[in-house]
Amino acid sequence: MENYAAIGIDAGGTNIKAGLVDAQGNLLSVQVVPTRKEQGSEQVLALIGEMIASLCASSARKVLGVSVALPGGVDDQAGKCLYCPNLGWKELPVREILTALTGLSVRLVNDANAACLGEYFYGKGRQARAFLSITLGTGIGSALVLQNQLYTGPFGAGVEAGHMVVEPAGALCNCGRRGCWETIVSASGIVRRAKEKMHKELSAKEVFQLAREGDPQAQAIVEETIFYLAIGLANLINLFSPEEIRIGGGVAQAEELFSKELYARVEENVYPTLKGKVKIEQSSLGYYSGIIGASTLWFHDINII
Ligand SMILES: [Zn+2]
Repeated sequence: MENYAAIGIDAGGTNIKAGLVDAQGNLLSVQVVPTRKEQGSEQVLALIGEMIASLCASSARKVLGVSVALPGGVDDQAGKCLYCPNLGWKELPVREILTALTGLSVRLVNDANAACLGEYFYGKGRQARAFLSITLGTGIGSALVLQNQLYTGPFGAGVEAGHMVVEPAGALCNCGRRGCWETIVSASGIVRRAKEKMHKELSAKEVFQLAREGDPQAQAIVEETIFYLAIGLANLINLFSPEEIRIGGGVAQAEELFSKELYARVEENVYPTLKGKVKIEQSSLGYYSGIIGASTLWFHDINII
């Protein structure tokens, strides 16, 4: 595989990241551009096609194919996006369009699943028998690998940990229910709580920064985030008993989330036989985990069940 590379694309609502990745998960070259989703899917796919062509032109290696990670439901076998509200895409034949533009084979994967595969194959703690990955971004992504099989389930929904209810009387979620984990612990959940409690428009990053500077209200929001992060993690541990959980995404860049309080609260809430067993760590691939994870489809045999 030494002379080969694959192209991973992470098409998010804000940016499109594209990279050339080798079989060891090394990022050889990368491009990031704004998505400009308001221009419509045709323009966005044309832009992705240009990024692919430019990465191919710069590659000294043979490119095996392209994997596109999308923020929503995909059908890899049919080569279609099913529903990606953050891009404004409904059913769309992404593979057909990109293959016509680039002449390359194209695979599709959900972005949370891509991040999970990246951590599973190339992260620090490799290939646990049961491995759970959580992405704390605008929403919450989650994915599960069991015995080298990525679990997507019979309906393609996989593990939607972000929509586990942790506060029945909580805020309204995009899914129409109340108190989903995502309404509290995601970046948008932190922004919403800052608005309610501090009466300010702050980003999640700004809330963490203010907490570090000693702002008591921001500190209370961070404490509440840790509290609910722990409740959700403990629920997931009780359900899946994973050996390892990796947490990535923008919110997880805040080191203080991985505090003693988090681990103590998780321990308090896990089933007795699971206490002290599960490793919970910050994602090791960071910002490009989606690109690197998507590319694994060209280098590793992974059963998607
Ligand atoms: Zn929900």
